[in-house]
Amino acid sequence: MSQQFDVVVIGGGPGGYVAAIRAAQLGFSTACVDAFKNPEGKASLGGTCLNVGCIPSKALLQSSENFHAVQHDFAKHGISVAGAKMDVGQMIARKTEIINKNAAGIGFLFKKNKVANIHGLAAFKGRQGDKWLIEVTDGGKVVDTLEAAQVIVATGSSPRQLPGLATDNHLVLDNEGALALSAVPKRLGVIGAGVIGLEMGSVWKRLGAEVTILEAAPTFLAAADQQIAKEAFKTLTKDTGLDIKLGVKIGEIKAGKKAVTVNYELNGEAVKADFDKLIVSIGRVPNTRGLGAEAVGLQLDERGFVAVDEHCRTNLPGVWAIGDVVRGPMLAHKASEEGVAVAERIAGQQPHVDFGVIPWVIYTSPEIAWVGKTEEQLKAEGVEYKKGTSGFGANGRALGLGQAQGMVKILADAKTDRILGLHMIGPMVSELVSEGVVSMEFKAASEDLARIIHAHPSLSEVIHEAALAADKRALHG
Ligand SMILES: Cc1cc2nc3c(=O)[nH]c(=O)nc-3n(C[C@H](O)[C@H](O)[C@H](O)COP(=O)(O)OP(=O)(O)OC[C@H]3O[C@@H](n4cnc5c(N)ncnc54)[C@H](O)[C@@H]3O)c2cc1C
Repeated sequence: MSQQFDVVVIGGGPGGYVAAIRAAQLGFSTACVDAFKNPEGKASLGGTCLNVGCIPSKALLQSSENFHAVQHDFAKHGISVAGAKMDVGQMIARKTEIINKNAAGIGFLFKKNKVANIHGLAAFKGRQGDKWLIEVTDGGKVVDTLEAAQVIVATGSSPRQLPGLATDNHLVLDNEGALALSAVPKRLGVIGAGVIGLEMGSVWKRLGAEVTILEAAPTFLAAADQQIAKEAFKTLTKDTGLDIKLGVKIGEIKAGKKAVTVNYELNGEAVKADFDKLIVSIGRVPNTRGLGAEAVGLQLDERGFVAVDEHCRTNLPGVWAIGDVVRGPMLAHKASEEGVAVAERIAGQQPHVDFGVIPWVIYTSPEIAWVGKTEEQLKAEGVEYKKGTSGFGANGRALGLGQAQGMVKILADAKTDRILGLHMIGPMVSELVSEGVVSMEFKAASEDLARIIHAHPSLSEVIHEAALAADKRALHG
């Protein structure tokens, strides 16, 4: 006998679990099926983001920043710490504790909202009347059969593999392995200078590894505003000490017993480099294997993502898809917002996700964050704009924190003054970027930000100053 639901969500990551909670809140009987197992072989909700992505990476970033601060910054405050040591095992245990706490929290929220929490791999099996049949297996055995008129596919993504190089998470690591090392490698290679490569590289560099990042693209952080990207390149190479090589052509990679040899070409020269560990972070691919897409004719696009319209509708009636498995930025908050919007759409509401105001954050030190268009995009689109910039260098709060580094740049329409983009590199800009998101959602002008009172001393004063600068009336510039 199959279990009947109004809505079945496949995937319990930030897209799926949020969609399931919202659907249940709206009065639908809802099940969420998730296949993730933690290293102990136990079901763990939260998907990539919680288990092997956003949350563990931020936990390790913080640990490594603390270690760095003890060694390099505390003395300036008059605090001397002799013999500071890093216990990697304890750092990883702390990370695991955070994951387990949050995963249990999602289980609690499911209970509270009466979402049926089903562990296993879900696959479309066919259609009966207006219901979709979904089979759930665990370890190859069928553990459940579900029926629902509405199905939300939120199966997420997996690391893209380098052709011919197997990830063993011992020598050749993906995000999962990079977040679970038991010791600091002496020589760490990273292929790919994207968000994951930079964050993971920063962690292990601060803990003592020599880190070389090999990037195929000639431009650093091509999606970011290039003024910010240049500033980031400078600080990450000089201050953090990451050796970032751009325009690299990767050749043969050989994994031996104790080291990995990477052959690559840089500026026409052949280079051979040995690493004790190699992280491969060259992007992610959508998870559609085992989903039974072909069994029911669920359409994928040319890149293998589930094809959806702007409302996350697939080609099948009552089947929706959200998050990393569909087009758009692979970001947890984008997945969650799509999840909420789909649940509300199933309930007949008219929600809207504005792709133009999704914040992006890279949690390096200093952090990088932005929302809206970059200067390069505005130029390419022929939009007339004005800009204002201001630095953290003289900001009292940043100086107190010992992180007086970076800048804020605001871009506004030359005629209407409407804010088109806010770009920053500096302390805690992951938090500051929300001011840009709110402003842009409310269609604010740069003058609005310039006239809003910002607390003193606070990091947000740099946004205020940048907004004043856009109107050529900076007070401290
Ligand atoms: C190292 C790293 C750091 C990151 N940091 C950030 C960050 O700081 N901020 C940010 O916004 N994003 C970050 N991301 C990206 C973020 O993790 C993803 O965008 C987000 O997890 C996508 O959510 P999702 O719900 O679409 O998919 P996922 O989180 O991937 O969840 C999908 C779930 O579905 C399960 N599943 C797959 N197929 C099936 C099936 N057939 N049946 C049942 N279950 C199935 C999977 O096991 C998984 O549990 C990071 C990613 C990585 C790897």
